[in-house]
Amino acid sequence: MLVVTCVKQVPDTTQVKVDPVTGTLIREGVPFIMNPFDIHALEESLRLKDKYRFRVAVISMGPPNTEVTLRKTLALGADEAVLLSDRAFGGADTLATSMVLAEAIRRLAQSEEVAMVLCGRQTIDGDTAQVGPGIATRLGYSQLTLVDHIENVDLQARKVRCRRKLEGRHEIVEAPLPAMIAVLREINRPRYPMVPMRLMAEDATVTLWDNKEMELSEETIGLKGSATQVRRIFSPERAKGEILGDGASNPEEAARLLIDKLVEKDIVCL
Ligand SMILES: Cc1cc2nc3c(=O)[nH]c(=O)nc-3n(C[C@H](O)[C@H](O)[C@H](O)COP(=O)(O)OP(=O)(O)OC[C@H]3O[C@@H](n4cnc5c(N)ncnc54)[C@H](O)[C@@H]3O)c2cc1C
Repeated sequence: MLVVTCVKQVPDTTQVKVDPVTGTLIREGVPFIMNPFDIHALEESLRLKDKYRFRVAVISMGPPNTEVTLRKTLALGADEAVLLSDRAFGGADTLATSMVLAEAIRRLAQSEEVAMVLCGRQTIDGDTAQVGPGIATRLGYSQLTLVDHIENVDLQARKVRCRRKLEGRHEIVEAPLPAMIAVLREINRPRYPMVPMRLMAEDATVTLWDNKEMELSEETIGLKGSATQVRRIFSPERAKGEILGDGASNPEEAARLLIDKLVEKDIVCL
């Protein structure tokens, strides 16, 4: 049985540059890393592998250099890595991205039953948190988001029990398999690759599926298949800070001024 982990390669910076014409990310000259949430999704998949003897397949849609990130997942212990790369997939929004990823999972499921798909909660570039739910919806899988603990997988009853972290409380949910689980960083502490595994991963095969292989309609993928476009991206302007009183010599006075300000702005009421 397979656990599929979705991993996105993202720029190693918060200063993403966007093409003003297409509204898509400019990738040239920017160092890339594995999306931090996806490192935790991979770690959790590897723990499920150790506990329940699943096989772990990692998939990523991205440009050809995403192979480097996929090799890192093999060095960490993934059994298989598939790169979904084709010019036709480029410029995809979450709708078109989840389309390609879901179809890739469907293909993997043709040769081995998929028990779970693990995703990160969100990426640090697009930040939408829509791709995991998009995949689940397309495949008709259960979807469990904001998961900070996988309590149990019952393969006989075909159920998974997870803890979801909500505002100020936790929720324990049980859902039928197959399920898409989007994880939070708190779920685990990721491992580091061992030197022999790193060396092995250098020679391992990263399977490439382009659109000749996938045979998806060009109307449903890439820019053409995208319902949304990023028109403009910018950092929000912050109001200038204000220093109230002198907290070092008179903290009580500074606290009183702060409370007055908060009341004045209707942020607290006394
Ligand atoms: C700054 C910026 C803003 C953007 N804003 C929008 C927007 O508002 N609307 C929109 O539709 N698109 C937007 N995009 C496009 C967006 O990058 C793509 O849709 C992207 O492929 C997936 O969206 P996301 O990064 O928000 O992923 P999220 O939905 O945040 O990702 C959740 C999880 O899905 C998995 N995943 C996501 N992408 C991939 C992938 N390519 N391969 C494998 N696994 C993946 C990972 O496990 C990830 O942790 C934006 C891109 C950028 C750089």
